[in-house]
Amino acid sequence: MNCHLHNPKHVSMRSFILFFLFFTQTFLIFAQSLVSIHSDDTLFLAGPLGAVKPDAPRALKINNVLNDSGFYRSASERLLAGGDSSECYWLKFKIQNTTEEKAFLELMFPLIDTAIMYTVDSGRIIQKQEGGGNYPFYSRAFNANNIVFALNKSQHPLTYYINVKVRGFCSIKTRIGTYKAFIREYHHDDLIQGVFTGVILVFLFYNFFIFFQLKDSVYLLYCLYLFCISGYVFRHGGFIFQFVFPSTPQYNELAMLLTGLGGAFGALFTMKFLGTREHLPYIHRALQALFAIYCLDIIASIFGYAAISIALSRITMPMGTITVVSAAVTMWRRGNPTAKFYLLGWVTLTLGLFTYLLEDMGVLPYNNVTAYALHLGIGLEATILSFAVANRFSLMKKDKEAALQGMYDALAENKKLLDERNKALEASVEERTYELNASTLKLQEYAQQLEKSNRELTEFAHIASHDLKAPIRGIVSFAQLFERKNKTTFDDIDREYFTYIKTNAQQSVRLIDDLLNYSKIDKNLTTPVKVDLNECILVAKMNLRENIENKNGQIQCENLPTMLGHSLLFTQLFQNLIGNGIKYNKSCPPVIHITVNLSESKEYVFSVKDNGIGIAPQYQSKVFNMFLRLHGQSEYDGTGIGLAFCKRIVDTYGGQIWLESEVGVGSTFYFTLPKAQIEQ
Ligand code: ADP
Repeated sequence: MNCHLHNPKHVSMRSFILFFLFFTQTFLIFAQSLVSIHSDDTLFLAGPLGAVKPDAPRALKINNVLNDSGFYRSASERLLAGGDSSECYWLKFKIQNTTEEKAFLELMFPLIDTAIMYTVDSGRIIQKQEGGGNYPFYSRAFNANNIVFALNKSQHPLTYYINVKVRGFCSIKTRIGTYKAFIREYHHDDLIQGVFTGVILVFLFYNFFIFFQLKDSVYLLYCLYLFCISGYVFRHGGFIFQFVFPSTPQYNELAMLLTGLGGAFGALFTMKFLGTREHLPYIHRALQALFAIYCLDIIASIFGYAAISIALSRITMPMGTITVVSAAVTMWRRGNPTAKFYLLGWVTLTLGLFTYLLEDMGVLPYNNVTAYALHLGIGLEATILSFAVANRFSLMKKDKEAALQGMYDALAENKKLLDERNKALEASVEERTYELNASTLKLQEYAQQLEKSNRELTEFAHIASHDLKAPIRGIVSFAQLFERKNKTTFDDIDREYFTYIKTNAQQSVRLIDDLLNYSKIDKNLTTPVKVDLNECILVAKMNLRENIENKNGQIQCENLPTMLGHSLLFTQLFQNLIGNGIKYNKSCPPVIHITVNLSESKEYVFSVKDNGIGIAPQYQSKVFNMFLRLHGQSEYDGTGIGLAFCKRIVDTYGGQIWLESEVGVGSTFYFTLPKAQIEQ
């Protein structure tokens, strides 16, 4: 059920208080009415009446003699008038009034437009009385809802003709009695009407209140239904006319509107209350049809087509009763506990209505039960249906509790599942951790093995290059001895060959030296010390003096910081980069510019910029590879180890090296050295 139950406990409490207040009020109205009843008044009997058209007056059979024995109430005469005032009706009575007290005749229909009564004695009009129209209820013969005429006192029967003008359908009954008897009857009517009003108001407000609390439209529909149906009864008893619009009897037609509206709201209420759309599709369609007919009824009433409205009411009454009762019975049999209250409510209303109609037609005698059967039926229906909506409310509460319980159960189930999942997860995490530990151990093992083989390789390179150097030096020395000894006999070709031998041997020695240096970088490294990089630049320049001077090179250098490390390595690093900058340079003069960016947070960024030949983009990432040379030995001598050496040095200190270059413009080599080197 999709309703908003804010706090059912509070709703019930507040509803109870409201209910109590209205109950008290109803009781007070009831008590007040009781006090005003005079039980010793006498009623007297008069004769029945007949309705005749003026053009064909129907002689009444009755010749009653009024005496002190009681109060006469006739069966009703049904009149169906059109809107034309000339189509009026005539009622004719013959009454002999012998009472001492003043006696009256009342037309029991509050919404008569006008009524004129002529008293005829021996064929001569002896009196004319007017009622209705310009004579609102408070100025009628005495304070009555209906039109009341005074009866003449005489020892022989007098004839009374009453001309009645009514717009729309009406059913007129009459009663005749003494003043006291009428007053007593009116008190009686007021009492019943008061109790009825109280009961209806209680349930109206009660349900309206619940509607505002729950925002469930079923309660609003019920209120609207109750309002219309009770409005119809108030109008029928003349109370709306008396209290709401006393001077405008033409609102008679409004009564028809109320029946149509009441029926339409009743149909909607039934659909929603019993949930016919979901549970009873056939009955739902019948209710929709009923609703449509009620809508037609409303339209007919609005435009004053009373006859159509009545005809539609004749269809809707049995159809509505059958549909609603069968819907309630079906739902009850299907186990909807609220449906039984609903069924009972409708049965009560139907019983009340039929009793009232049977009394109206003269089949049932007039007494307190039959006279107020409609009030009783509607009052009881309102009470029982309110039980039904209250029952629905409590069912909703139970539903909500069940839903909450379901939610708790689902939550508990979820928690259980979650716990199980957690356990499974923990187990799998444990398993994975174990596997991870095992693989970490394996990795460590591999790392150790790798380190060992690296060490062995470096040692091998060291030994191999060291051992290779001696025989090459031997070759050079013996070649020189051989040259010196045969100097005089050497021709030019011999001399050229000897030069090749020496150059190649020297190149081999340089290669071996470079390899040796490379392999020694991280082998037996001493503890890092503070090294002033400016001094390293000076030493590098010294070592490269010959090359620089030969080419008239210029070295510009910013002030460099002091770092923790090894001066030999830093010198080698700068020396290689400066040397390359001079070597691979055709500019005059070759200019080398050394800078440092001190602002970088974690590291210094050094740059060595030259105006040399530059490196093509496709080689820029490869020049740091071992033995890679872009030029032949004849063009630029070298071993292809210099930049690889630089990379290895920078790697040793945890830095990075890269370059930017443009062919014919120059190259800039960048490298970083972490500042932490100083802090260490
Ligand atoms: P090499 O002993 O041949 O100089 P390097 O490792 O120092 O070996 O350099 C590798 C190659 O990179 C060189 O052969 C050269 O072609 C190129 N190279 C290095 N530095 C520069 C530079 N400053 N300008 C142009 N080319 C360079």
